[in-house]
Amino acid sequence: MTKFTGFAMKRLNEVGWVEKEKPECGRRDAIVKPLALSPCTSDIHTVWEGAIGDRKDMILGHEAVGIIDEVGPDVKDFKPGDKVIVPAITPDWEDEAAQRGYSSQTTEPLGGWKFSNFKDGVFGEYFHVNLADANLAKLPESIEPETAAMLSDMFSTGIMGAENAKIKVGSTVAVIGIGPVGLSAVAGAAILGASRLFAVGTRPNCVDVAKKYGATDIINYKEGPIDEQIRDATDGAGVDAVIIAGGNMDTWPQAVKMAKAGSKISNINYLSGADVVPLPREAWGCGMANIDINTGLCPGGRVRMERLASLVEYGRIKPELLITHRFKGLEKVEDALMLMKDKPRDLIKPVVSIKE
Ligand code: NDP
Ligand code: ZN
Repeated sequence: MTKFTGFAMKRLNEVGWVEKEKPECGRRDAIVKPLALSPCTSDIHTVWEGAIGDRKDMILGHEAVGIIDEVGPDVKDFKPGDKVIVPAITPDWEDEAAQRGYSSQTTEPLGGWKFSNFKDGVFGEYFHVNLADANLAKLPESIEPETAAMLSDMFSTGIMGAENAKIKVGSTVAVIGIGPVGLSAVAGAAILGASRLFAVGTRPNCVDVAKKYGATDIINYKEGPIDEQIRDATDGAGVDAVIIAGGNMDTWPQAVKMAKAGSKISNINYLSGADVVPLPREAWGCGMANIDINTGLCPGGRVRMERLASLVEYGRIKPELLITHRFKGLEKVEDALMLMKDKPRDLIKPVVSIKE
């Protein structure tokens, strides 16, 4: 049996390197070696906030680009040596939830999220991908692996946030939180046709990228309630769509208070810190305001990754602007994760590149 090492959640609040046996490749599956990796804020919630409960020696990470090491005998479109974009979410495409259009929720709530949730993630010398033909996408030659690593989760999630907000051409939009997820939502809102586009956050690097991605107004949430600032800026009107990509439970009442009748509030933030989400009864029209709340987990799968890669190839999105810190070598994934935990103000996303 081949052994390999990976960087794992050893238990709640503890991380470290572990040695494991190389995973077996199922008939329709693939074994992949990483070329570019990035930690996610969700890895931090998982280890240090217990957001999905305890895990023992589970390799972390779900954002990767890699090179195929092995494929099962029933895989048709991929072979060893192919470079691939690996989606954070790898659904069970035959499950009934996928057939109803909710592929991220196959078999159970959030069940399409396998890496670093209920199986080993991508921060290892090898990782296993279920249903290779349906869950991997070829990496186009014109896209750097580190750029494509920003598509696995960040751009897939952020753009979904904009899709779920049902933005129409000319809609006014507020994106609350402009870390890498919110910034991707800003880019998605701009592509979908937002006119005035408010971005809420304070880190100077993030503000700079938000403007490059299409934000027209920056709101500093430290300078007063966001809804008041946005109502003031719009002569009291509010906005057509709100995307929540950061903040805390106090963000929800503010989101409702800045929404016009007919608005969609699209949440992509990972809620923690309290069990109940507060909604302001009166501002929500006693539950009859036609202000709808949509939620979603990052979309995965091959077609999603191919479409996002196509947006990069034809110059519609620039994921590389999210990368502020670069590391080389798998062993540096530990530093990258700790950076994500500490969140220095100049950080947007770290990426770790690994030689073939
Ligand atoms: P970051 O921590 O990098 O960004 C959070 C943003 O929220 C920052 O812009 C921050 O502002 C802002 N913020 C903080 N406090 C407030 C507040 N009180 N009011 C308004 N804004 C505030 O996070 P990421 O972008 O990496 O991730 C965002 C969330 O998305 C996480 O919870 C993550 O787990 C989740 N996620 C969800 C996925 C999904 O499938 N739905 C997939 C991937 C991630 P400042 O500029 O001041 O720092
Ligand atoms: Zn994530």
